Amino acid sequence: MLTLTNVQILYDRAIEAVRDVSLQVGAGQIVALLGSNGAGKTTILKAISNVLYPEDGEVLHGEISLEGADLKRLPADEIVRRGIVHVPEGRRLFPLMTVEENLAMGGFLRDRGELSAGLDRVYGLFPRLKERRRYVAGYLSGGEQQMVAIGRALVAGPKLLMLDEPSLGLAPQIIDLIMETVVALNREQGMAILLVEQNAALALEVAHYGYIVENGRVVLDGPAERIARNEDVKEFYLGCS
Ligand code: ATP
Repeated sequence: MLTLTNVQILYDRAIEAVRDVSLQVGAGQIVALLGSNGAGKTTILKAISNVLYPEDGEVLHGEISLEGADLKRLPADEIVRRGIVHVPEGRRLFPLMTVEENLAMGGFLRDRGELSAGLDRVYGLFPRLKERRRYVAGYLSGGEQQMVAIGRALVAGPKLLMLDEPSLGLAPQIIDLIMETVVALNREQGMAILLVEQNAALALEVAHYGYIVENGRVVLDGPAERIARNEDVKEFYLGCS
């Protein structure tokens, strides 16, 4: 479905944040992208969404395609229209807008009927957001804000949902709820998921396939259960040996 081939990404025309990365997300797959801070994971998601800025010296080489169609030269809104929706690290909500206004921003490319069906689906998935729909998003808890960020992406109607560090800073109960939701979206709707996570154990539990990125390169990839059994992964990422 999504294919990256020999992708290289530079910042300031010189700093190589991503070096020769090739990866795939198959239809209906949950794929985990793992690696330590600064490994290049966020940069890869930004390249897929096409939110890099060439005027600031951000350069992308290599190929990125969705179902065979080249995505590299498409504007970010067209990438969303084609079904790839990104939940960024740190959530990036509109803090002074209400929950419902934030969710509706995800529907900016959709008609009224699709928007209202999308809101209903999100409220079904996260009843807490329905209760809080008139609240200002900036005053919600971290977990509720993450639900809004995911809900906003779902309103856009993704075929492939990209989540950047959804568990970061959240309480264990909320992390479980978020991960159960991710699994349900995948199982019940066949939604493909590209999941960037610091918490490798958590990600490998839900993913079908995993990639480990170090210093901008893929150093290991394979079925999630095989990655979880790898001795180096156990030592460096899972905290056991
Ligand atoms: P994290 O989980 O901390 O976000 P990451 O694996 O997502 O880590 P990236 O954020 O993609 O890593 O960063 C990859 C490398 O690119 C790092 O060395 C980072 O310092 C550098 N980098 C990221 N954004 C920029 C930028 N706007 N300008 C210059 N260098 C950057």
